[in-house]
Amino acid sequence: MSTPTTSQIQAIDAQHIWHPYASLTNPVSSYCVASANGVRLKLSDGQELIDGMASWWCTIHGYNHPALNEAITAQLEKMAHVMFGGLTHEPAAQLAQRLVALTPEPLDKVFFSDSGSVSVEVAIKMALQFWQSQGRPEKSKLLALKNGYHGDTFAAMSVCDPDTGMHHLFKGTLAEQIFTEAPSCLFDTPFDPASIADLEAKISAHAPELAAVILEPIVQGAGGMRFYAPEYLAAARALCNRHDVLLIADEIATGFGRTGKLFACEWAGISPDIMCLGKALTGGYMTLAATLCSEKVSDGICQGEAGVFMHGPTFMANPLACSVANASIDLLLESPWQERVASIEQQLKIGLAPCTNSPGVADVRVLGAIGVVEMKKAVDVSGVQKSLIAEGVWLRPFGKLIYLMPPYIMEARDITQLTSAMVKVIGELS
Ligand SMILES: *Cc1c(COP(=O)(O)O)cnc(C)c1O
Repeated sequence: MSTPTTSQIQAIDAQHIWHPYASLTNPVSSYCVASANGVRLKLSDGQELIDGMASWWCTIHGYNHPALNEAITAQLEKMAHVMFGGLTHEPAAQLAQRLVALTPEPLDKVFFSDSGSVSVEVAIKMALQFWQSQGRPEKSKLLALKNGYHGDTFAAMSVCDPDTGMHHLFKGTLAEQIFTEAPSCLFDTPFDPASIADLEAKISAHAPELAAVILEPIVQGAGGMRFYAPEYLAAARALCNRHDVLLIADEIATGFGRTGKLFACEWAGISPDIMCLGKALTGGYMTLAATLCSEKVSDGICQGEAGVFMHGPTFMANPLACSVANASIDLLLESPWQERVASIEQQLKIGLAPCTNSPGVADVRVLGAIGVVEMKKAVDVSGVQKSLIAEGVWLRPFGKLIYLMPPYIMEARDITQLTSAMVKVIGELS
């Protein structure tokens, strides 16, 4: 086959390929990317864009990183993949050891899977199997937070926000879970104990049927990009203990330093019973996720009727993915990532501040390497994207949110270009 031109690629794309949350009867044309290096995407027409999205939280070290390339090519020479049933390998062992060492105690056991959503399915299944083995199968419901996002597969969808999620579309098929109000206590404001009242009421009322509480610690991501107080997270942990309910922390977006802590649970000094990791785990190179749990959970599961944990993906612990994850974690820990994230936070605060004056803007908030401008109305994604591209930056707004989470290696002048572009385009919108 001959190499297609850019317009042929786009035509094939529009005719045959689904994109995230996209229509194929009314397709929106996609930009064709030819290569990516450092913090820049190069489109096939030659234009370079500063990437403010880190490919959805993942590319924390930037693209085409020599150390990550080296890790993956070295592993490729040995083996690209082997099944994980009855076999093990060094990259998986090394990665499990690193994850156990880095995450809060007593998380001690690691289940590898292919994507964030699947790691959430695994977490939920762990919680259900745990209570079944305790002879308490009636503890089978999840309590989740409104505005939450945990992925697109069925169990994950069932714990996403019931209104902005897809509950009504799949009513009858989707498990019905219990929801509590989104935390009203924001990250930077004095904590109001009243903000845990609904959580407390729901946990104590439903404890006999609750397997676990599932939440995104500190940052609610795709469900609204809101940052809430560590005290709320600490209270959730204490309530779970008091009422004999497991706590699942979904750190898929927050893990590996994004909020200024290696894991967002550290803001409250708590440890969940089960933790989900994904996104930045491989530095954005490969799809890989992990579900960690405590020995209490793993013992509980394995003492039950099944005697084993009932899950086993074909591509579990893929060696290429594990190798690049090991290299990405080393790179992160050897780098001054805390200083970098803190300095990105400062720059985002200063750079986005002018947006506060735009009449169309409802709120501007920054935490760690996450900057969010919430508009009063939903934005026209392709129109805004076009204007941002004219300014040389790549962002992907959704709903009312225009937000960024750059690679940690981004230099000051590139961050300035990002925030200036946002200020300009948002000014034009208002
Ligand atoms: C992205 C995300 C997921 C889903 O991960 P996928 O890899 O897209 O399946 C789950 N939870 C949170 C908090 C996420 O940000």
